[in-house]
Amino acid sequence: MTARDPRQRLPSVDRLLQHASTGPMLRNWGRRSVTHGIRSVLERARAVFDGSGPVPTDEALLGDLHQWLQAHGRRGPRRVLNLTGTVIHTNLGRAPLPTDILEALAPALGATDLEFDLDSGSRGDRDHHVEGLLCELTGAEAATVVNNNAAAVLLVLNTFARGKEVPVSRGELVEIGGAFRLPDIMERAGTRLVEVGTTNRTHPRDYAGAMGPDTGMVMKVHPSNYAIAGFHAEVDIATLAELARSHGVPLAWDLGSGSLVDLARLGLSREPMPGDALRAGADIVTFSGDKLLGGPQCGLIVGTRAAIDAIRANPLKRALRVDKLILAALASILRRYGALDQARAELPVLQLLTRPQEAIRAQAQHLQPLLSAALGHDWQVQVCDLHSQIGSGALPVDALPSAGLAIRAASGAGKAVEALARQGRAAEVPVIGRIQQNALLLDLRCLTAGDEHLLIESLQPAGSHAP
Ligand SMILES: *Cc1c(COP(=O)(O)O)cnc(C)c1O
Repeated sequence: MTARDPRQRLPSVDRLLQHASTGPMLRNWGRRSVTHGIRSVLERARAVFDGSGPVPTDEALLGDLHQWLQAHGRRGPRRVLNLTGTVIHTNLGRAPLPTDILEALAPALGATDLEFDLDSGSRGDRDHHVEGLLCELTGAEAATVVNNNAAAVLLVLNTFARGKEVPVSRGELVEIGGAFRLPDIMERAGTRLVEVGTTNRTHPRDYAGAMGPDTGMVMKVHPSNYAIAGFHAEVDIATLAELARSHGVPLAWDLGSGSLVDLARLGLSREPMPGDALRAGADIVTFSGDKLLGGPQCGLIVGTRAAIDAIRANPLKRALRVDKLILAALASILRRYGALDQARAELPVLQLLTRPQEAIRAQAQHLQPLLSAALGHDWQVQVCDLHSQIGSGALPVDALPSAGLAIRAASGAGKAVEALARQGRAAEVPVIGRIQQNALLLDLRCLTAGDEHLLIESLQPAGSHAP
């Protein structure tokens, strides 16, 4: 490059790095990605700028930088608008947590009494931060927490049936999305699965025939994401409890979602609750923290004192335990289960699941002209009735009457709709809807009033708003 090279009139990496609008990008993507991006943008500018036209402005280059970072920058999980209609969406982070949970996390950021007993000044147990709450809410004698419900099931099986047999009904040998297959977990836990009954019908005599000296425990599994209709029989938990007790082995019930409130009182179908399962005779009940409970990812194990003590003594517990932030978040969520009204008012997952269709439809009617104006003449935006799903296997056959917006290309082209969906995903706050019959469907059940402007901004054609 000679002194008269016009490309020297382009800004330096440092100048762009110091620019005021680079600040938010540095916060989002970090210095390494931003510097890399500036180099790449300047390289591209050098390749096309020959000095004949005006020098690209810093603002234009920073616009390119923003685009480069959106496409190539590396950052952690991002906030998205879940307009899929599935409330507890495993790929989108499952249960939404209350925003004030951040206050509950603060005391656990630095040094904290995680495993320290402040009374005696000696070592404590991390479970004690939530065990009392879990016992009060479920009637259990004892409780412990691990990484997720899959870990809870693995730990329970490994504790009570390593090298032994576990009878499970063929109707309950489920695969839950994301490669949780009960037979595989059982194998990894070192247990031998004994299949009993048939897919649609299992009787007490089937279990009785499978019990023997090698039986380590009996396990019942909530079929979760599918339902058997028609000619169907399963053995109730009280009968199974009696059978297990007569053979001197524990009975565990994997509930999956395990709501801590009676969903029937919220107008949804009833799901078995952990307390019911224990009262009916289960020794151990396992369920997820981030499904209907509305908390962070974790797996909860509640049961008899003897069973929980045995689980805590398993060395695998150490490998599956949760950290201080999860315990702080979980305790904060559990504290909100004082009364049904409090839980419903304070837990977003319950708020969203019980949002009335009329309220969602009114929101769609309010947004329809705004989105229509933002998208312009190429698009047709219509209010439509939809069905939301709870998701994550809870109440699989229950659809929640909902409403939203259907966006179609005025030309009728399906390709254009796919491009719009892609643009929504590429936005600063990505919008995730679903495509059905050449329409982008946005279920508004999970859209709060405060986020409505983000929906408009994210779908607006590129160039009609600032990055
Ligand atoms: C969801 C589910 C699991 C897995 O729980 P994770 O918290 O996702 O690990 C296991 N069993 C049942 C019945 C479930 O519904």
